[in-house]
Amino acid sequence: RFPVPSDIECAHSVTPVNIGTIAKGLGLDEEEFDCYGKCKAKVKLSAYQNRSGDASGTGKYVVVTGITPTPLGEGKSTTTVGLAQALGAHFPELENKVVACVRQPSQGPTFGIKGGAAGGGYSQVIPMEEFNLHMTGDIHAITAANNLLAAAIDTRIFHESTQKDEALFNRLVPLKKGERVLSRTMRLRLEKLGLGDKPIEEFTQADMARAARLNIDKATVTWRRVLDTNDRFLRALTVGQGPAEKGYNRETGFDITVASEIMAVLALTTSLGDMRERLGRMVVASDLDGNAVTAEDLNVAGALTVLMKDAIEPTLMQTLEATPVLVHAGPFANIAHGNSSIVADQIALSLVGEGGYVITEAGFGADIGFEKFCNIKCRYSEYKPDCAVIVATVRALKMHGGGPEVVAGRPLADEYLSENVELVRRGCSNLVRHIENIKKFGIPVVVALNAFASDTQAEQDAIKAASLEAGAFEVQVSSHHAHGGKGALDLAEAVRRACSGASSFDFLYPLDLPIKDKIWAIAKEIYRASDIKYSEEAEKKIELYTKQGFDKLPMCMAKTQYSFSDDPKLKGAPTDFVISVDDIRASVGAGFLFPILGKMPTIPGLPTRPCFFDIDIDEDGNIIGLM
Ligand code: ADP
Repeated sequence: RFPVPSDIECAHSVTPVNIGTIAKGLGLDEEEFDCYGKCKAKVKLSAYQNRSGDASGTGKYVVVTGITPTPLGEGKSTTTVGLAQALGAHFPELENKVVACVRQPSQGPTFGIKGGAAGGGYSQVIPMEEFNLHMTGDIHAITAANNLLAAAIDTRIFHESTQKDEALFNRLVPLKKGERVLSRTMRLRLEKLGLGDKPIEEFTQADMARAARLNIDKATVTWRRVLDTNDRFLRALTVGQGPAEKGYNRETGFDITVASEIMAVLALTTSLGDMRERLGRMVVASDLDGNAVTAEDLNVAGALTVLMKDAIEPTLMQTLEATPVLVHAGPFANIAHGNSSIVADQIALSLVGEGGYVITEAGFGADIGFEKFCNIKCRYSEYKPDCAVIVATVRALKMHGGGPEVVAGRPLADEYLSENVELVRRGCSNLVRHIENIKKFGIPVVVALNAFASDTQAEQDAIKAASLEAGAFEVQVSSHHAHGGKGALDLAEAVRRACSGASSFDFLYPLDLPIKDKIWAIAKEIYRASDIKYSEEAEKKIELYTKQGFDKLPMCMAKTQYSFSDDPKLKGAPTDFVISVDDIRASVGAGFLFPILGKMPTIPGLPTRPCFFDIDIDEDGNIIGLM
């Protein structure tokens, strides 16, 4: 099938199976899912809860990761889908026993630089328009919840500044004599202060002041507003400039929605009750005494959970070959933890049962997405992967070997279109380092060589030799982009062989190490840095978080995806470099600290010619130009 038609043409080459049929094929009862139209269904958490005691066990757990990304694209999503298609549609004994778990794409890249994320060619999630645009509204729910909390913070600072203790208390706790506090959110707040069990008339002036005032230190507010659009002009701004706000303005900014801590909470939560607690634990600022102020303190955690109640359910979709796909959560791997949700994996593993396979994808290169998959996601889920698949391409390795830069809109350089074994050989240093790193976690690693039409046998052979020498379990060339599941049969067989052995999965560092030691473990073992420099701000944060008791959390490194180092220009496998920790922030509700390496924009900008130039719709409502 060369040349392979465009992604949207491939996506339209089959009619999707009714999603109710896919759900029932997986063994879901009518009560366990809600259809959103013909092609999407929300799967209820009861699907896992109803099966979690099942003694027959769960399926094999396979994580797909990649080499260090380049502008040429490596095809991780395409390979995740292609592998799921191969296993689910071409091995009769695995029928209805394979699920792929992927993230929901952010609208930022869809209309910005990268385009959609449904996979590509004949390995895609369909309908790709519904997958890439809105889906079932989860990202919008996160935007709503995040910004409700932002509004709660600024409003609270404003009201506390303009009202006296008693008036403020009477508004926040509107009770009459003899009554006890009624709202759950207020009860939790008063219990935290040790005032929970008193009738209202026994509150002294001091009690009222303590109960009513959070005394947020404006300069310490870390919570920002979010929008799922690459709008660089929202990076820094001043809020509260209207006359009614009486000069209570504050400098802040927007992040992209997928960088919101609420997205990370969604991805790491394990149940509705757990999500309510995590949302309540989110720290938004410090008070004037240096204590952490949380969403629970602002009485808003209940409302946030209400906004998120449907978003906690993963969305069931399908591949081009009708393999079930659970789409859920979508944190980026550079500025967040980069993995789809624990609840989707829980549901998938329990549905496929013993002998089945769940293929889950970790974002960007294995130095960030996979490292965080292991040290953060698996730590909270308590699942252990049976094997990792690392996706590599000849073209991308040529760039790591010193191939020329790719300039958008210009034709690809000849190095990428004709044979150059030497360039590939040099670029293998990047793949080799990732293989060595993955092996440190105690699991077998299969290399998926995502075949492009321009690859030559000698180039592919060079990659095979280097991978096996580095300790890869197997290397398979896979042509799922051109041939769908059939093109990934060898890869599927290799994954089955890798999963049949015992894995001895372990984390890279224990949580009780001091913050700097945990950062060093990642920098030394995964990035291979020679040293770390901390800014004054980062040193201050380490002291603060240690004092506040958050130093036992895992680390979520915010680092460029384009290099092992914090300099995106250092391709291949750089050595002798120092990384700089400019700042550290806390996502206490999600459950990690995130050290920021170098300048990491938390809301991308748009290029001169963004993807939206090509996107349109015809008179019949067909979407054109989505990639
Ligand atoms: P990643 O997940 O690594 O970002 P994707 O799977 O989203 O990459 O693929 C990016 C783009 O590259 C898609 O448009 C896809 O169609 C294309 N692509 C992937 N694999 C191949 C291939 N083997 N040949 C040609 N194009 C490919």
